[in-house]
Amino acid sequence: MPYKFTFDLSKAPKFFFTELATVSHQTGIHTTVLKASVDIIKKFNIEEVTGININDAIVLLHDLVDMQVANLNDRNKFLESKKRALLLPHCARNYLDSRCKAVFDANIPSYICSHCSNDCIVNHVNKIAKEKGYDVFVLPGGSCIPKIFSNTKYEGVVGVACGEEAKMLRPLLSNMNIAVQSIPLIKNGCVNTVFNMETLIKTL
Ligand code: SF4
Ligand code: SF4
Repeated sequence: MPYKFTFDLSKAPKFFFTELATVSHQTGIHTTVLKASVDIIKKFNIEEVTGININDAIVLLHDLVDMQVANLNDRNKFLESKKRALLLPHCARNYLDSRCKAVFDANIPSYICSHCSNDCIVNHVNKIAKEKGYDVFVLPGGSCIPKIFSNTKYEGVVGVACGEEAKMLRPLLSNMNIAVQSIPLIKNGCVNTVFNMETLIKTL
């Protein structure tokens, strides 16, 4: 399910994400996190840069911190995993209309990228992940997950999604004893969404 608000953190300064990661390392007490979130929002002018109001920004930041904390908790198990999958959201494709030449295969289920667009982030990441031995899935939604994981036994998963989708995905996969690394969308809106390529490659 998408957020009820849209955001675009792609214009936020790089140090904003560094500081978020630092908070995630130190987290544990929720009041501290709340104060730290408000401080970070003010320090990096997040309201001004992204146009979202402070309450939505706090929700977003909490989800990002929670995601990072859960990633850290699962990191060692993930590093030991042998069979891995990368889940990409279909909304990050360059085009969501007929200009995208990917074909949806309901038997997998996933879009199969046909590499039609050189500047498509899904295309780029698809190639890198496959070279690293990942099975790559480009998903229209979380409803594809049960079939994918009943077909193959994965031990580690890297999943790109907005915070709310990631929150639903993690318990589902954790219950299957799969180590999860979530990469947040930094621009949502279900069309032309954006994630940080550098973060994803580091995580892979
Ligand atoms: S490169 Fe792949 S995902 Fe991107 S627009 Fe083309 S077919 Fe679609
Ligand atoms: S932004 Fe993308 S991942 Fe999030 S709900 Fe919309 S389509 Fe799904």
